[in-house]
Amino acid sequence: MAGAGYKATHERSIRDREGFWLEEASRIDWRVKPTTALDASRLPFAQWFPDGQTNLCHNAVDRHLPERGAQSALVYISSETGATRTFTYAQVYREVNRLAGAMKGLGVECGDRVLIYMPMVPEAIFAMLATVRLGAVHSVVFGGFAAASLAARIDDAQPRLIMTADAGMRMGKVIPLKPLLDEALALSAAATPQVVVLDRGLAPDRARVAGRDHDYARLRGIHMNDEIACEWVPSSHPSYILYTSGTTGRPKGVQRDTGGYAVALASSMEYIYDSRPGEAWFCTSDIGWVVGHSYIVYAPLINGSTTILYEGLPMRPDPGVWWKIVQDYRVSGMFSSPTAIRVLKKQDPAWLGRYDLSTLRFLFLAGEPLDEPTSAWISKGLGVPVIDNYWQTETGWPILTAQPGIEDTPRKIGSPSFATYGYELEIRDEQTGAALGAGQKGVLCIVPPLPPGCMSTIWRDDERFISTYFSSFRGAPVYTTFDWATRDEDGYYFILGRTDDVINVAGHRLGTREIEEAVQTHANVAECAVVGVADALKGQVPVAFVVLKDPARAEGALQCSAHAREVQHAVDTHIGAIGRPAQVHFVAALPKTRSGKLLRRSIQALAEGRDPGDLTTLEDPAALEQVREALNPR
Ligand code: AMP
Repeated sequence: MAGAGYKATHERSIRDREGFWLEEASRIDWRVKPTTALDASRLPFAQWFPDGQTNLCHNAVDRHLPERGAQSALVYISSETGATRTFTYAQVYREVNRLAGAMKGLGVECGDRVLIYMPMVPEAIFAMLATVRLGAVHSVVFGGFAAASLAARIDDAQPRLIMTADAGMRMGKVIPLKPLLDEALALSAAATPQVVVLDRGLAPDRARVAGRDHDYARLRGIHMNDEIACEWVPSSHPSYILYTSGTTGRPKGVQRDTGGYAVALASSMEYIYDSRPGEAWFCTSDIGWVVGHSYIVYAPLINGSTTILYEGLPMRPDPGVWWKIVQDYRVSGMFSSPTAIRVLKKQDPAWLGRYDLSTLRFLFLAGEPLDEPTSAWISKGLGVPVIDNYWQTETGWPILTAQPGIEDTPRKIGSPSFATYGYELEIRDEQTGAALGAGQKGVLCIVPPLPPGCMSTIWRDDERFISTYFSSFRGAPVYTTFDWATRDEDGYYFILGRTDDVINVAGHRLGTREIEEAVQTHANVAECAVVGVADALKGQVPVAFVVLKDPARAEGALQCSAHAREVQHAVDTHIGAIGRPAQVHFVAALPKTRSGKLLRRSIQALAEGRDPGDLTTLEDPAALEQVREALNPR
């Protein structure tokens, strides 16, 4: 199909879904080959390859053994601990079987949930693969989330087993994880799960709960020679749940299927990422995010690539560390985020020229808007095209991107190019829901069915799936991305920011409501508003405006900054440092409409030095003045 060019390929993927996706389905192994691509009888719930049966772990590991058993599957490089470990496909197979045996021994069965709260270590990937091998469902929780966030996810997923480690490391500092898990389990109302702890020898606290906590190394020893058959599951069987933020304080469990996901990822490695089996692939994300799930773990392994798992920061021990990896492992495709590149851009550009980068063909950047100076700087420095990917946790793979494996279409600055094959997109008027034409700004929508690989529902909440994503407009339901977009005369899309109260900090999605709830746990906070404010490095940062119950306690510069630090700490302990407000301002009242709705957009505009917009509904103009003064103290 790739020879047909972008336009023809995209068109066929929409007009002849059956033909297109059944052909793509042959990229993976099936226990029972599907005869139909799509069951659209219950839209917006799409079932891909409804009569097929497969297994994700088989496709990522087992099926490569005859041809690639001795090839490196996984290279782990930690600039935090100094460790480097390489695993061939055969070795990954062994490790995954050991862990699958251990999981089975602990009672994990098909359909059970396994929560993974681990740092960026190979064992975290083995845990993901072992889970899906058993037909169980993993839920990886980013290691930077604090106990309360973790507890909320445990309550929702109700795992039978939790995999964790003694600690992670960041900037040379040990970040204990197991004590946070203990705290989360104490907060959680879910039935007590089994816990497996990987002891990295980083944290001295080895407190274990008898009967609940098990040591990874010990279990591995017991299950050294286990061979655990893959559980063949229907294509629509859930492979994982990944929680993401929305406009409410309650995160949503994005549920992914098995067969559709495997097929979408397999095709994307050729069509989007132009990556060939056997080549080295380096995605710098974290396994706690969707990019990590898809492009550190599943897509490269399904593709037969060598995937690089990097634990650490891009400028430690020096700002050349990533480029040295590209040279040493002959990386051909790299996937990162605009924030990471902006961090590197602050360093000496000579680092880019120090290593042989001749194997690299493309750099893909995703997760947040890509600004022109960053794109131009890195493209020139590396001497390769930079490709902007636009997508969401919900979709699992790109919605908008250039697809150089199909056709190397020219790229326009500031645009993630075109709809990915499989995606039928519309830009709709926010008020009327009418489909808009070139040059008109509206909400980017996906016309159902969502293509293979996208979320199948919200975990145990079909109703919320429909009410959140498919209820913005009257008439036939469409999926709304909650992003503003335009399309130009040549068909190039431009993303113009979120339509809701979700913010994007260094490529990570956070709900302002979630941060507000964390701020409100401080005993002296009466109410608060958190908005995302433009930031040159991170894209956006959260800024909090707080009304205190007892303002006298924050009077004077010293008390005020101590109070601000306490508020930040409240967020650290509830969400984690990623949600920490960059600034905390104390005000006597918050600007609201007469019906009591917080005017977040006006506050945000003021914080960014813009016009606060239409204020006719404002209840108390003095409140807005206070925000202005808090931002620009005299
Ligand atoms: P997440 O689900 O955490 O990946 O966040 C998805 C959101 O990040 C999208 O809805 C967009 O608001 C934003 N986003 C992701 N990629 C891009 C991109 N290439 N350009 C602009 N915004 C992006």
